[in-house]
Amino acid sequence: MVLKLDDITAKIRQQIEFFEAPIEEADVGTVISVGDGIARVAGLRNVMASELLEFPGGVLGIALNLETNQVGAVIMGDYEHIEAGNTVKSTKRIASVPVGEALMGRVVNAIGEPLDGKGPIQNAGFYPVEKIAPGVIDRANVDTPVQTGIMAIDAMVPVGRGQRELIIGDRQTGKTAIAVDAIINQKGKDLLCIYVAIGQRQGQVAQVVATLEEQGAMAYTIVVVAGASDPAPMQYIAPYSGCAMAEYFMDKGKEVLIIYDDLSKHAWAYRQISLLLRRPPGREAYPGDLFYLHSRLLERSAKLSKAKGGGSITALPIIETLAGDVSAYVPTNVISITDGQIFLESDLFYSGQRPAINAGVSVSRVGGDAQTKAMKKVAGQLRLDLAQYRSLAAFAQFGSDLDQATREQLERGMRLTELLKQPQYRPLPLEDQVISIYAFTKGYGRTVPVVKVAEYVEKMLQFIKSNHPGVSQTIADKKVLTDDVEISLRSALASYNQSVGYDVPKS
Ligand code: ATP
Ligand code: MG
Repeated sequence: MVLKLDDITAKIRQQIEFFEAPIEEADVGTVISVGDGIARVAGLRNVMASELLEFPGGVLGIALNLETNQVGAVIMGDYEHIEAGNTVKSTKRIASVPVGEALMGRVVNAIGEPLDGKGPIQNAGFYPVEKIAPGVIDRANVDTPVQTGIMAIDAMVPVGRGQRELIIGDRQTGKTAIAVDAIINQKGKDLLCIYVAIGQRQGQVAQVVATLEEQGAMAYTIVVVAGASDPAPMQYIAPYSGCAMAEYFMDKGKEVLIIYDDLSKHAWAYRQISLLLRRPPGREAYPGDLFYLHSRLLERSAKLSKAKGGGSITALPIIETLAGDVSAYVPTNVISITDGQIFLESDLFYSGQRPAINAGVSVSRVGGDAQTKAMKKVAGQLRLDLAQYRSLAAFAQFGSDLDQATREQLERGMRLTELLKQPQYRPLPLEDQVISIYAFTKGYGRTVPVVKVAEYVEKMLQFIKSNHPGVSQTIADKKVLTDDVEISLRSALASYNQSVGYDVPKS
């Protein structure tokens, strides 16, 4: 082929004529030092707090420390290739994550990138990771329950939609199990779920995801993972990212349940970042703004007013304690921010009382208003009986020396405690909870041996469902225990007790 000089020059001329230098405005800085996922950058004059920065190779960072002559930034991703002298561009974007319906059923990392190999996510847009929580005027009363399906919780420490209820306990006391059961129980209901795993081993998270898949719960769940081996900045933003994903749905008028598992590890990640950024350490070497770290996150859960669409975010933060010490820095902080706590105890857990909820010290400050009428009617007696049982339990060893009334209270307490034991992945619907609590607080379970309580409950519920279907159905639909229903329930329980030879209490 022969190239003609004219052709070539014409081509070049044409190129020059149509050449358009794309104009791009960017604040550019230089890396001064880098290490442990933290970079100090000079020259970014107009950078905003928590603005995304672009490092070489497209790696993103977040500007956290804005100082007079430099910016301290955390690097979100691989930082091995970044070195002093590299240029850093500001993006004029505040850190944000993809949100939308397409995230349902997916497992993503702290910045919303898929981890489950199911291909890219068609997101509906981006939401800022940090957002100011809804104000007082935009909120409504908490008045609808979140049914966790765990009897001890739904009856005694009810959680309302829009509430923040802390799950707190030592390691291996069934904290995650409660959260997972609460998610499983939302099957076929209207609550969407987000599970944020922070600082956990990959294996633990994989197990939770596998359980959710198995139970058919992934369809309405998003899992956000920042594992123990992920950089601290990823663990730091993970809960905020999860919350942003929840806010998208709340803004659409939907209701979301979000679980932060767990915020102790989140605080550790933040402490690590803060120390590396050379912020002054305070109590337990945590930085001074530890309270704000969690309060600004948990305040974002809300029940919005009708005018704002009526959506809600209910948060179940989890905190791990050391030897039951709730006065450590992080636990006390989070206890004071949340609307109640579910205390889990190793002693109870190892003695076989699972879920290991300490009913005496667990509280729900706003959930009572949200409890269904049916549950309220039976739960009061349950709480009272258990409280009496606890105060008497110390005398139990005196056995036959006790008077009749005390002995009966002890017997009843033992059965009620037994009733509250519940295996994993077996959430109970409201009507079953109400009927079984009713049976045991009204004396139908009086002659059932303690070891047979679980069996009695299972068979009795089955019996009522097949022989008196109206009773369960009415409680399930109306969520109240009217006098009529109560009469039918009594006769149903009586006929079951007669059929298996247990006592029927008089009237
Ligand atoms: P970690 O501190 O490691 O996060 P955790 O407090 O989240 O632990 P889980 O992992 O939920 O605890 O539970 C610990 C173990 O107890 C698991 O093996 C779980 O299967 C078992 N377990 C939890 N709840 C129950 C229950 N209600 N009945 C029987 N076993 C349970
Ligand atoms: Mg756990």
